[in-house]
Amino acid sequence: MKPTFIHRLINSPFEDPSLFVRILWERRALLFDIGCIDRLEARELQKITDVFVTHTHIDHFIGFDTLLRALPRRKIPLRVYGPSNVADCVEGKLRGYTWNLIKEYPLKIEVFSVKENTIITSSFHAENCFKRIDNSIIHFDGTLLRESLFTVKAIPLDHQIPCLAFSLEEEFHININKTALTEMGLPVGPWLSELKKALRECKSGDTEFMISHKRYTLDELRHVSVITKGQKVSYVTDVSINDENIKKVIELVRNSDTLYCEAYFLEKDRERAIERFHLTAKTAGMIARDAGVKNLVVMHFSPKYKDQSDTPENEALREFKHSTF
Ligand SMILES: [Zn+2]
Ligand SMILES: [Zn+2]
Repeated sequence: MKPTFIHRLINSPFEDPSLFVRILWERRALLFDIGCIDRLEARELQKITDVFVTHTHIDHFIGFDTLLRALPRRKIPLRVYGPSNVADCVEGKLRGYTWNLIKEYPLKIEVFSVKENTIITSSFHAENCFKRIDNSIIHFDGTLLRESLFTVKAIPLDHQIPCLAFSLEEEFHININKTALTEMGLPVGPWLSELKKALRECKSGDTEFMISHKRYTLDELRHVSVITKGQKVSYVTDVSINDENIKKVIELVRNSDTLYCEAYFLEKDRERAIERFHLTAKTAGMIARDAGVKNLVVMHFSPKYKDQSDTPENEALREFKHSTF
């Protein structure tokens, strides 16, 4: 079974956190945080349609320039989601340059700033020399982006400043039953993507497909698909170590296939973690275990642990695998 989301951290856990998620079957990718992204290839940068920013500390936002530099000729808009000040930060970045020769370019940047139970939308279009236009205010019910293939949810957390955590959830996964295809004498081809799309969009049973010059309805083809549980990937970083945050994070990441979570400090430095508004590795492991996560990937380690034998990763995984029963 091919997963829909192919995900990886761009950097080592001692460097800026940034998660790159390629969406299979769509020439498209999502980015969670935009720290240094210099390791992404040009073709990967071109695929990024949506950037989810936890907060705008420099290690989570400095890569915006790299993306901006790559995209002016792209016709597909770039959407940026983040906490209440994210539009100000995008504006600040754009104001750092001179744009008198940009009017002919197609790039449109749409920004979604989450403030309590609202999302404020702002536009920065190349044709207006990236001048800021604040648009509508919409209700925020926990979902930032809903498409037929997947949903991205966010929760606001405390990191002394507001900080978002995200979950990416595939609605359901569609596999193709090759035996059923063979029995019907149907070839593999692009029509399978169209079939999956029609199933996701709950199109009517008489929707037609042309396969090898023959007409089939959706109802006739339905049984070549096998529906299974969708993938869930969560991303949590820069979170103060307090009960309220931890409770909210466990709810958000529950039953994730993979949780990417910060493990900035070791438990022995818990006091420092509290002072710096970060989690400890042990807490990251506990969150993943209590939320029933399948796979925990820890990231964003303090550089002071670079040459130590007991790494934040060891501590987090020990706690994650430690049964409380
Ligand atoms: Zn950070
Ligand atoms: Zn931070």
